[in-house]
Amino acid sequence: MIQTMGLSKSFDGVEVLKSIDLHVAAQEIVVLLGPSGSGKSTLLRCLNGLEQLSGGSVEVNGVRVDSDMPVSRKKANFNEIRRNTGMVFQQFNLYPHRTVLGNVIESLLVVKKMQRKEAELIGMQMLERVGLTDKRDEYPSRLSGGQQQRVAIARALAMQPSIMLFDEPTSALDPELVGEVLEVMKQLAKEGMTMVVVTHEMKFARQVANRVVFMDGGVIVEEQHPDLFFSQPQSDRARKFLNQLS
Ligand code: ATP
Ligand code: MG
Repeated sequence: MIQTMGLSKSFDGVEVLKSIDLHVAAQEIVVLLGPSGSGKSTLLRCLNGLEQLSGGSVEVNGVRVDSDMPVSRKKANFNEIRRNTGMVFQQFNLYPHRTVLGNVIESLLVVKKMQRKEAELIGMQMLERVGLTDKRDEYPSRLSGGQQQRVAIARALAMQPSIMLFDEPTSALDPELVGEVLEVMKQLAKEGMTMVVVTHEMKFARQVANRVVFMDGGVIVEEQHPDLFFSQPQSDRARKFLNQLS
C-alpha cells in the first residue's frame, strides 16, 4: 500500500532522511516514534508530496514517484496520491469563516466538483463518524480543540481516502481532550483504515499499532511489534528514547 525505497531528503544540503525503506501494508497501523528532529514529519510529508524527494522513490496505492522523474510527472502522480491519502496535522487548519459542515465538504465541492446536496450528504456521514452532527452549523472558533480536530479528521475522511496520515494529532490539545480524538482514531483503525501515525501517546501506540517504526537521525533504527518494542527495544537509541519518557 505504501512503499518507499531509498527515500532521502535534504534541506540546504543537510540530509534529514537517509535512504528510508518503509513498507506499510493495507489495513496496517504504523506508529512512527523518535526524538525531535529525527525526521518523522518530513517522512510523512514525503509520502504525499508535501515535500520534494531528494532521492529514491515513494509508491502509494500503486502510484509511484521517483525523485528523478520529470517534474510534471511527479506533480501529476502526487496529485493522484493526495486524492486518496488524508492527512491530519497538529494544528487543525480549519477555515475560520466556514461552518463545520462547510469545512468538511470544501474539497468535495472544489476538488471533486460535487453538487452541494450530494456533498452535504457525505459531509453529514463524516460528521456522524466523529460524533459531531449537532455542530454542523457552528464556526470552528466556537468548538473545543478536540472537536476542531475531529472536524479536521471528518474533512480528511470526506475524500474517502484509503490511507490516513496523522502528524501529532493530539499534541496541541489540552490533556482532557486527547481521549476523544484518540477514540475516533481507534474507531478508524477498527474499520480497517490504513494509518501512519506520529504520536507521543504511547498507550495508543501499544494498544492500536501493528508495528512501531523508531527513527533517529533520519534513519529507521528499528521496527517491531509494540509489545516487543516497549518491553525489549533492540537498539541503545530506542532504549534511551523510552527511558526519557518514563
Ligand atoms: P518533531 O518531533 O520535533 O516534530 P520530527 O521528527 O518531526 O521532529 P522533522 O520535522 O521531520 O522532525 O525534521 C527533521 C529535520 O529536518 C530537522 O533537523 C529539521 O530542522 C529539518 N527540517 C524540517 N523541515 C525543514 C525545512 N522546511 N527547512 C529546513 N530544515 C527542515
Ligand atoms: Mg514533527
